[in-house]
Amino acid sequence: MNIYRLAVLSDNYIFVLHDPVKNIAAVVDPAIAQPVLDKLEELGAPLVTIFNTHHHNDHIGGNSALIKKFPEAIIYGGEKDRDRIPNMEVFLKAGDRVNFGDREAQVYFVPGHTYAHIAYYFAPTSDEGGELFCGDTLFAGGCGRLFEGTPAQMLNSLDQLRQLPDDTRVWCAHEYTLGNLKFALTCDRDNLDLQERMVTATAMRQRGEATVPTTIGLEKRTNPFMRWDTPAIMRSAGIEIPDRVFAKIRGQKDNFSG
Ligand code: ZN
Ligand code: FE
Repeated sequence: MNIYRLAVLSDNYIFVLHDPVKNIAAVVDPAIAQPVLDKLEELGAPLVTIFNTHHHNDHIGGNSALIKKFPEAIIYGGEKDRDRIPNMEVFLKAGDRVNFGDREAQVYFVPGHTYAHIAYYFAPTSDEGGELFCGDTLFAGGCGRLFEGTPAQMLNSLDQLRQLPDDTRVWCAHEYTLGNLKFALTCDRDNLDLQERMVTATAMRQRGEATVPTTIGLEKRTNPFMRWDTPAIMRSAGIEIPDRVFAKIRGQKDNFSG
């Protein structure tokens, strides 16, 4: 499975998946349609599946134009988004498995950013690595805002993702990395991995490069929202109850202007 990252709008990423053997394509969270249509044309592959993580318009905005062009394409989304994602045909819940080409994704229910949010995890195969498409749940260096969920729900969602293999590539839906790392340094300033990541990510952005995908391993070492139960983060929050640490740093991030 080849993965193509399309940068659209101000900071969104759309991911086009291509199975070169069957020559079919899928898309994850198409904010808009045209760049996806251009990529499909370049690949010469039909769109068979639209994977949505949640109902926000910057993740489903391209759906209707895409299915107009590819009426056979099927829209997948979380079962709790049933009434919020138009034309959805497959309603997914935790543990469901979905196929694309020769790969299989497992569905994770990851509420917090919205109450219906899901993620797609393609486990590694004998010759390809693991891939996680997590929408606005886990970001490089941060996590999504809690529009419809509680800190405890988001903690639980991220705790599930934290258990995936360290080398899993993480395809987040936004380029928010530098702002996230800036905040991360305020609560984990002695973390050498984090300091180094800030330098690397800054250089990448200066060169116009994307910082996505990241990996689960890198997030576990440097993302405060994956580290709520580490001594450093608990110390900086001044609390020793992990759930409350998470709530506190998420609240601080909401009010952080860099
Ligand atoms: Zn969103
Ligand atoms: Fe978004």
